[in-house]
Amino acid sequence: MDFEVSQVKEKFGTLRFYFHLAESHTREFTDQLYDIVRLWEERSATVCEKCGNPGEQRTDLP
Ligand SMILES: [Zn+2]
Repeated sequence: MDFEVSQVKEKFGTLRFYFHLAESHTREFTDQLYDIVRLWEERSATVCEKCGNPGEQRTDLP
C-alpha cells in the first residue's frame, strides 16, 4: 500500500489531514482522494472538537 498519512492535526478548531501517495495513480483517483479529505476537513468545522456534538467554529477561545 502506497498510502501514507504524514500528519493529522487540529488547526483553528478544524481537522488537517496530510498524506502521501506514490505516483502510480490516475489523476482522477488522486483528485477524488483530495476531495474526500477536503470534505471531512470542512465538516470538522461543524462539530465540537472535544465531544463531536454539533458545533461551530469559534475564535473567542485560546
Ligand atoms: Zn463539545
